[in-house]
Amino acid sequence: MGKQTIGLEQNLYDYLLSVSLREPEILTQLRQETAQHPSGRMQISPEQGQFMALLVQLLGAKKTLEVGVFTGYSSLVVALALPPEGKIVACDISEEFTAIARRYWQQAGVTDKIDLHIAPAIETLDQLLAAGEAETFDFAFIDADKSGYDNYYERSLKLVRPGGLIAIDNVLWSGRVADPEDQNSQTKKIRAFNQKLHQDQRISLSLVPIADGLTLAWKRPQSAG
Ligand code: CA
Repeated sequence: MGKQTIGLEQNLYDYLLSVSLREPEILTQLRQETAQHPSGRMQISPEQGQFMALLVQLLGAKKTLEVGVFTGYSSLVVALALPPEGKIVACDISEEFTAIARRYWQQAGVTDKIDLHIAPAIETLDQLLAAGEAETFDFAFIDADKSGYDNYYERSLKLVRPGGLIAIDNVLWSGRVADPEDQNSQTKKIRAFNQKLHQDQRISLSLVPIADGLTLAWKRPQSAG
């Protein structure tokens, strides 16, 4: 498997996987199918998926949010980590990508846990807030268009409970965030987003250098109300 966590030598990455990865067969199949897809690099890495499953278990999560489904690896990994009554509200705009996701959710028997909304995520998140679902989610995973990150984050912060966790993907952006020459609009958005979270006192923060960089933002209980 090609190296997917940035900054690790291939042999050390292979070793890490060899002594820690416990990927269910269905996730391996989904990962292999997605790798054939022209946008396959958008898929999260297996060690990141396993890390997120562990976070969901640590939180005792029952209700989670996903912004950006793609072919469903992260939602499937979370669904398998949730208890039988667990629920995921999943947002994506692509019927094509999520058709692959739905096929695997069905095969894994987790379809009943996942409520998929095909619409701009902002609309779905605003509907959840209007429906009185603020502070009812335990966990949120944001992995969609980078220009929308700040909007997704602000809404997710309202939707997760105090003591809930938001995980935001691609915050190291293949290292481009640290290259001052890179003035690409997406790179600039991620830089600004990272700087904002650094100062945000509503959360406790860790930027974990797994895969393409995963920021964990834990909603501080005092920010409730
Ligand atoms: Ca991603």
